[in-house]
Amino acid sequence: MTNADKHPALALTFWGVRGSIPTPVAANLGHGGNTACLSIDRGDAILILDAGSGIRTLGRDLLARPALPEIHLLFTHFHWDHIQGLPFFEPLFHPEARIVLYSFHPPEQLRAVLAGQMVAPYFPVDFQQVAGHLEFHQFEHSTRTIAGLAVQSFDLNHPQRSQGYRISDGRHSIVIATDHEHGAPDADARLNAIAQKADLLVYDAQYTPQEYEQRHGWGHSTWRDAVTVAREAGIPRVVLFHHDPAHDDDALEAILAEAQDVFPGTQSAREGMTFCVTPPAH
Ligand SMILES: [Zn+2]
Ligand SMILES: [Zn+2]
Repeated sequence: MTNADKHPALALTFWGVRGSIPTPVAANLGHGGNTACLSIDRGDAILILDAGSGIRTLGRDLLARPALPEIHLLFTHFHWDHIQGLPFFEPLFHPEARIVLYSFHPPEQLRAVLAGQMVAPYFPVDFQQVAGHLEFHQFEHSTRTIAGLAVQSFDLNHPQRSQGYRISDGRHSIVIATDHEHGAPDADARLNAIAQKADLLVYDAQYTPQEYEQRHGWGHSTWRDAVTVAREAGIPRVVLFHHDPAHDDDALEAILAEAQDVFPGTQSAREGMTFCVTPPAH
């Protein structure tokens, strides 16, 4: 059996789509109220991007399986909306879990940053007490094989830094670019070069173009920039991600309609949604 047979689909699932803070209010639930968490499932291994509050549901899903996959958790950066779900990720407390964590920080610093949100008086269980086997890796400006996928990390433009990822199974690719503000020439050129000819782009579209006028320097982009990157990089599908807490379902539908008018391959990220990048088998 070849690797391609074993893993026939490259698919991305959204467990949390919101930026800044969870907003589980009724008007938001069509898209979802949990903060950033995505996954690419490879059967015996799973690649997870960020540990916003959406990772809680993913953890329960993993524990319900007959066997726990090897867990590879990559961080874009460490703002709350990308780490706050980690203390509630149940595999962390499972003695048989093997969790490999990656970020731009050196291993000891990564451990310290994550442990820092699990100390008194903020959380009752100390990070030292997690039961799973944890491994920490620094991963920046480079490519490495993770869960059988080629993963490339690159810098985005965001206060206190954020990093994007291009993930490829050798045939198809997904680019994740969240917590990124367009308009910095170096970062835009890097993203454009790395994203070339990917199959799917997930992009920070927190603000409308009108809102952005009051938000320069806050580290986020708009649907218009998402569409521009997709077009210039020759990517057929773009998913608007990192929704603003103030954007309810009606607002997000209006944003999507506007974006689809300009670029029909636009979608809006929703909790529970899976995008399959590989064409269906015949
Ligand atoms: Zn964020
Ligand atoms: Zn951020």
